[in-house]
Amino acid sequence: EQRHRLVVLGAGGVGKSSIIARFLKGTFTDTYKPTVEDLHCRDYDVNGSLIKVDVLDTAGNLEFPAMRRLSISTAHAFLLVFALDNEDSFTEVKALWEQIKEQRTNFKDLPCVVVGNKADLQSSGVVLVSRADSMDWASSHGLQNAFMEVSAKEDQSIVTIFQRLLEQAKLPAMRK
Ligand code: GDP
Ligand code: MG
Repeated sequence: EQRHRLVVLGAGGVGKSSIIARFLKGTFTDTYKPTVEDLHCRDYDVNGSLIKVDVLDTAGNLEFPAMRRLSISTAHAFLLVFALDNEDSFTEVKALWEQIKEQRTNFKDLPCVVVGNKADLQSSGVVLVSRADSMDWASSHGLQNAFMEVSAKEDQSIVTIFQRLLEQAKLPAMRK
């Protein structure tokens, strides 16, 4: 039996839990409830074969470096999240990628998608991290085609995140 562990990392408040809730439950809430750590286990029957996926939702802050280290060491795939209206959260994603590379020598074999969340804020003009900067950083750090702009709030490209991860993992596409 093999379980595939997807670890979701990023600063606090960027929308990690919201992305997971949108994908797994189809829900969104405006109220912010900080996460310590949540593991969501799902079994999918894909053409008769069972695919077991565990999504690990993590705390965004730096209070728990040992938990972060452990979550990175146990991951089969990564989802790195920042918020498009928060430059510091983009800096945090860059630092996380450096930590992943340092801890996981096989990082090139590990599926990884980087998302700028809260794309719905683009219309109100509060977006601070430009698409060009994000794409430049991703392509110059071995993350070609890994960057996406999404919105958990408006359900923009949330399913695509998980499809991309499955493609990179060479697993068959799954339904909710
Ligand atoms: P986490 O700390 O990374 O898990 O962030 P949460 O998922 O708890 O979300 C933090 C806050 O951002 C909450 O108030 C959410 O309602 C809000 N939020 C999450 N995703 C979006 C989004 O796509 N657009 C907007 N405008 N707000 C969002
Ligand atoms: Mg959370």
